[in-house]
Amino acid sequence: MQTQAVLSAWGDILAGRTPALSIELTKECPLRCPGCYAFDAAHLGNGQVLRDLSDFRGEALVGRVLRAVDERAPRHVSLVGGDPLVRFRELESLLPQLLARGIFVQIVTSAFRPLPESWRNRPRLQVVVSIDGLQPEHDVRRAPATYERILANIRGQQIVVHCTITAQMLSRADYLRDFIAYWSANPDAKKIWMSVFTPQRGADLPEIPSAAGRRFIVEQLLRLRTEFPKLDMAASAIEQLLAPPASPEECIFAQTTTCLSADLNTVISPCQFGGSPDCSRCGCIASIGLAALGKHRLAPGVTVGALFQGSLAVGKQVRRARRVLAGRASAAAKAASAGLD
Ligand code: SF4
Ligand code: SF4
Repeated sequence: MQTQAVLSAWGDILAGRTPALSIELTKECPLRCPGCYAFDAAHLGNGQVLRDLSDFRGEALVGRVLRAVDERAPRHVSLVGGDPLVRFRELESLLPQLLARGIFVQIVTSAFRPLPESWRNRPRLQVVVSIDGLQPEHDVRRAPATYERILANIRGQQIVVHCTITAQMLSRADYLRDFIAYWSANPDAKKIWMSVFTPQRGADLPEIPSAAGRRFIVEQLLRLRTEFPKLDMAASAIEQLLAPPASPEECIFAQTTTCLSADLNTVISPCQFGGSPDCSRCGCIASIGLAALGKHRLAPGVTVGALFQGSLAVGKQVRRARRVLAGRASAAAKAASAGLD
């Protein structure tokens, strides 16, 4: 979620609402990326995997998404997957209706098919394309969304490149530099974001960078951000990769985002990764960006994070009070109707 959106949504937090909503628009994806968290057995946390859920299509999908949005009144909606482009026809109907509500919409895709013309330069719409490394490595991990297809499918657009750094990308000292230089030179890419692979607790996957690897990533990104302006990451956010939030409760991103899976009912918690993510090895750009904001000092001894936690506690009380009042109102209505019978 955008830093600006969190700040402008402070009133929503106090009122017990979460300002960001992330929706897995579909359970379908033509890719089979190694280390994909969406299809991980732990993701939904209820013994089911994403592919087991019932999802929707056509007008049923559009209507249910709009209902989910209207119930929660978020400022920021992320449409993720599976791959949301699997439902590109529904997106054509959904997007204008979301944007007309004044919501900032982000679509996260592998760009395995052409991005619609109507998405070009659309205010309040951001298209994020996942590109994991340079062509030789990316094409192995993310076929059929190969470089050749992505380059053709994003032509004329202004996408955000999002790369999840894995340990494999650290085997060559210049790898990250070469990646950022390549995409900096592409006129269809307006920004570059770099995350680091985030594992589940206890996981031991080849994608997970070591502690030394993580320090190397931080050194590299701090240097590269001064060389390549398209690398859209504040130094304070990059440094947070060495000190991610200690738990979901301390993660501003997790606390400000509701994540719904493809049945539009299952809530993914504690954050978009689901399951039991290892916060100590979190590398999510949204989480570290907001963690950096949380460290910002507003006055001596007062940080944005402390103020945020206080506001969150107020919001929880407001939610509780609202539930109690709704329960009393419903009981009173039942009693009144019984009296009339
Ligand atoms: S494109 Fe995304 S959802 Fe699909 S397999 Fe890859 S990581 Fe998973
Ligand atoms: S894994 Fe990352 S995004 Fe998820 S709750 Fe932990 S710190 Fe936040």
